[in-house]
This record gives sequence, C-alpha cells and structure tokens, in this order.
Amino acid sequence: MRAVCWYGKKDVRVEEVSEPNIMNPRDAIVAVTSTAISHADLEAYGGRNGAMRKGQVLGHEFMGEVVEVGPGVSRIKPGQRVVVPFVVSCGRCWYCKRQEWSHCDNTNPDPWMGEKVLGGSPPGVFGSSSLFGGYAGGHADYVRVPFADIGCLEIDGDLPDQKVLFLSKTLPEAYMAVEQVEIEPGDAVVVWGCGPAGQLAIKCARLFDPGFIIAIDGAAARLLMAKNHAGADYVIQESSETLGQLRELTGGRGADVVIDASSSMNGSSVRRDQSNLPVLACRKGGTLTLAMERVGDLDGAVLHVAMANGVSIKTGPPHVHRYMRPLLDHIAQGDIDPSFIVTHRLVLADAPVGYDLLDRKEGCVKVVLEP
Ligand SMILES: [Zn+2]
Repeated sequence: MRAVCWYGKKDVRVEEVSEPNIMNPRDAIVAVTSTAISHADLEAYGGRNGAMRKGQVLGHEFMGEVVEVGPGVSRIKPGQRVVVPFVVSCGRCWYCKRQEWSHCDNTNPDPWMGEKVLGGSPPGVFGSSSLFGGYAGGHADYVRVPFADIGCLEIDGDLPDQKVLFLSKTLPEAYMAVEQVEIEPGDAVVVWGCGPAGQLAIKCARLFDPGFIIAIDGAAARLLMAKNHAGADYVIQESSETLGQLRELTGGRGADVVIDASSSMNGSSVRRDQSNLPVLACRKGGTLTLAMERVGDLDGAVLHVAMANGVSIKTGPPHVHRYMRPLLDHIAQGDIDPSFIVTHRLVLADAPVGYDLLDRKEGCVKVVLEP
C-alpha cells in the first residue's frame, strides 16, 4: 500500500510499505478515505520533532471505512464509516476512566521516554515519533487502529467526510480550549492565531453566547477567513499596535478570556520577540488557554505577568474521545460546519506538495489528502 513517510526536515515521500495486520484482539484495520495534515505533522516536517525516525508514516487526523476487526472488537463492524481520534486510548486505565483520554497510561510502549523528557508519559498518537509510541499514521491507504471499540466514532447517514474529519483532532482541540476558558454570556473573547484550530475555536466560542469575538493573526488571508467564515466580530493584524487596538475594543481592560491558538511555528517576528503578548491581552483576573503544543515561550516573564494580574492559565492536550460524539451532534444539527477551513484538497500521491503549501502558508490553512 502507499503511505506518506517522514525522512527528515522538509523531506516526506510517498512510498510502498507493508499493509497493517491485526496484531491484538482489540484492533481494527481502517481503509482511509480522508486524512488532514495537522500542525503536529507540520512540526515533524519542519524538523522540530526530535524523536522522529526515518520511514515513520505520518498523519494524525484521519477517517475511513473499517475493513477488518480483531476477535476482541464488538461494537465496531466491517463496512462502517468511522472517524479515528488521533490519541490512542485504552478505555480502561485510571485516566481513561476519568475521561482524561489524552493522559492514557496504557498505549505508549515506551513510557520511559516521556517520563524522562516531559516528566510523564504521553499516550500513543498516530503518525508521531517514538516519544508518542511510534504508531503508523493516517496518511496511508490502511491504518491499524488499536482499541477500536474505544476510539472509533461511527458516522451514520450521509454526512460528507469534510464535515466530520476534523472530529479526529482539530475540532475537539478547539472546543476543549473554549471550554477551558469558561466563557460567560457577554464576555469579550480573543482568539489569538487563526490557523485551523483558531478558526474552529471562533465557531465553538459562539456556542457560549459571548459579547464579541476578536481574532488576531499575522496573516491577512487568515483574518479574512476568521471574519467571513468563522464569524469573528473584529479582526486585528498582529503588529506593535495590537495590544492598543485590543484595549480600545474592550473598554481599556483587555479581554475576559484569551484562547491562544497560535502554534510555536505560526508566530510572526513581532510575536516571537514579545512572546508574552497573549497573557497581556487578558484583563486582570481573566483566563488564558494555550490551545496548541508549544515549546519555549511560556517563560518566567509570562508567569510573572500572569501572577501579578491574576490571570489563570489553562493548558493540555485535547481529550478527544470526550468531545467527539457531542460535537458530531452539533455538526448533524447544523450548529457547526468545520469544512470551511479546507483550502486545499489533494490526492495522497501529492502529499509532498501539500506539506510544502502548508509550510509556506500563502493562502493555505488546511490540506486534506484523499488516498
Ligand atoms: Zn487508558
């Protein structure tokens, strides 16, 4: 079968690899119909994931049709369309029973790595490095899905792939960030960073009846999408004037809540030089959430600003399984249609083109690959 394999910085190749097999009774094999390039895939592409091994099959976000199940799978059946969460969770450990799915203690075969580098082991993740279990990802014709009854969300009816694919990662990621800041009716909400997660965070924030939503980004095209498709009330271009413009819109106080959805590689030069801006965008006593994985810019100065102003900071990888079904209901009811974030749709064989487009970001927000 074909798969998109990582070989190094800006080097991904479409290769012939062995088809996956059922290895454990609770496995399923899924024939992929759609897979998206996520920001974490792009981190690997940019050479910023140090534990990648050559030949790793990429792809966090994917969905498809079940073609085979192991003898321990009872709920999921061959022939079903399913969305697969990017986090591999067992459903039985202490964390899974608390619905803290992305802290699952059972699915990373090499927990010592995370314990050494991060202070605690992350779960297994599709299409990532050895630090996350080295599971083959969704940029392929077929994927082995462990704990299939726990992870796979069956899609009934005729909802198209493009509406439900992002239940795999980006939409729950956005929704959990919004939930974490506990928006109250009338609140001034800032979404900082208008990549895919930021765009969907604007959509999700609207469900909580805010007063208004301000989108901030360095790229004019992304701000246009935030205004015209996600539904932001105001947009601000990142510059040295950003905070001043924000204060004008918020009675001089700053935002009640700030969702920082800018990934560590999305920032403009302004952003990188003044990395504590999102925390300064909060009013005194406000709440900030860091929606994306990031490295290096939550430094002591940020913590000092947060403490001095009583800003609460929330973090954490998304507990995807917790949110998939309620968000599917929102999609089915027409409250949210995430498909507007897709700017490019390519065949799997053109994956290297897709990675290059997304890396350069010129008019590219989300790339979907179809095997
Ligand atoms: Zn678990």
